[in-house]
Amino acid sequence: MSATTEISPAIFAKYEPVIGLEVHVQLLTATKAFCGCSTRFGSAPNTQVCPVCLGLPGALPVLNRRAVEFATLAAMALHCQVNETSIFARKNYFYPDLPKGYQISQFDKPLAEHGWIEVPTPQGTKRIGITRLHMEEDAGKSMHEGFADSRERTYIDLNRCGTPLIEIVSEPDIRSADEAYEYLTRIKEILLYTAVSDCNMEEGSLRCDANVSVRLRGAEKFGTKAEVKNVNSFRFIRAALEYEIERQIEIVESGGRVVQETRLYNSQEGRTYSMRSKEQAHDYRYFPEPDLPPLIVSEAWRNEIRAHMPELPEARRKRMVAEYEITEQDAQVLTGTRAFADQFELAAKAAKSPKRVSNLVQGELLGRLKAAGLELEQSPISMQGIARAADLAESGELSSKMLKQLFDRCFETGEDFGVIYEREKPQQISDSGAIEKMIDEVIAANPKQVEQYRGGKRTVSAFFVGQVMKLSKGQANPSLLNELVTRKLDG
Ligand code: ADP
Ligand code: ZN
Ligand code: MG
Repeated sequence: MSATTEISPAIFAKYEPVIGLEVHVQLLTATKAFCGCSTRFGSAPNTQVCPVCLGLPGALPVLNRRAVEFATLAAMALHCQVNETSIFARKNYFYPDLPKGYQISQFDKPLAEHGWIEVPTPQGTKRIGITRLHMEEDAGKSMHEGFADSRERTYIDLNRCGTPLIEIVSEPDIRSADEAYEYLTRIKEILLYTAVSDCNMEEGSLRCDANVSVRLRGAEKFGTKAEVKNVNSFRFIRAALEYEIERQIEIVESGGRVVQETRLYNSQEGRTYSMRSKEQAHDYRYFPEPDLPPLIVSEAWRNEIRAHMPELPEARRKRMVAEYEITEQDAQVLTGTRAFADQFELAAKAAKSPKRVSNLVQGELLGRLKAAGLELEQSPISMQGIARAADLAESGELSSKMLKQLFDRCFETGEDFGVIYEREKPQQISDSGAIEKMIDEVIAANPKQVEQYRGGKRTVSAFFVGQVMKLSKGQANPSLLNELVTRKLDG
């Protein structure tokens, strides 16, 4: 029953995947959800613990106000209705890195419900519902050593116990692995903009469990779902879902039944494995947490929190397209992170042509940063430098070839564009006599193109400009060159 045999497209097309995602996100508070212990990542094991997060008898939890504010802000950004009253509940289960024997979570009265986000799909924008967003605490971490040999050991680090989380549960609205990928990308982007989490998947700040089933297209009833757990990148989640969809179609096609279970994804093999059959919700014996009062987020408090809402990525893209005359696609790249968008806007406002700034950033800056292994914050070229380069290019004082050379120099020396430009400003040929001589040369060498131009194909003038620019080693004044080429060809 492996998904190694190819399913024909015709069979594939008979089925519709149904996917719902559960995303856990660590909140960026300095201290834990119910005690004052630090949430810092990477400290020596078991150094950030106290009687409360260890669940020692008699210790009492006190809710972290900041965690509520972050959770509420996230809920609002995801268009959820925030419940004025929500209830913490104990979710009971045994796990070696859960010393209390239960997790404080929320069950039938979560912090927020009925949200949605929009994702781009090949068929246009699609709305995906968010069933609920609730608060809970994280468990500790088990670390395995010498796995599967005779000296196998498991160590337990309880530093993470009690770290505040939100869980975001989607409606089963997602219909493909690609849509799941888009959904996760958008969720992460929104959470990063609101700054409630660093969403660092390597450090486990964002984790996703994917529920997936298949049904015949047109069928009303959902199929039985499997849950794929602990996949540590969006790309792997997409791959795991693709695998799982095929596996389930094969089972159904061959007359079998999908069993409800939890599965693990092995990224090396690109397949999922059964881990355990799914425990039912009532096994957790949820009951209201007796040590915490109901959580009340009053209207006044909600308004206070809402006042901290930044402009969100989707709205920002729309505004930037209108304000700077850039394309959707440009805006998509330029709003990748909030800091990046802020930087771009600084330069766009300082320069004469925001569109040219956008082109420069995407065409000349990002590639060089990537090649040098630098983040935008580490760029040798400041946003003022970008704005200046854009203006020089716009006015024709700087050819694109010269600009590229100067940018290369910035990355070689680590100096900003303005510094390099002042020092190495190339000699530009602005002597019309000298330029005309070169144009004559190029015209003489290309009679066919001259004929085309004079026959009405005026775009051929770009060919002549390019040839002369080459001849001048990129030093001809571009606007003068343009003017003279047209004059010569017309004359
Ligand atoms: P459980 O009780 O097993 O945790 P829930 O009803 O809480 O199941 O749903 C968990 C997640 O699974 C949600 O994101 C939901 O949208 C999704 N889901 C529920 N039923 C299905 C299904 N048949 N196929 C795919 N996803 C589903
Ligand atoms: Zn503690
Ligand atoms: Mg559930």
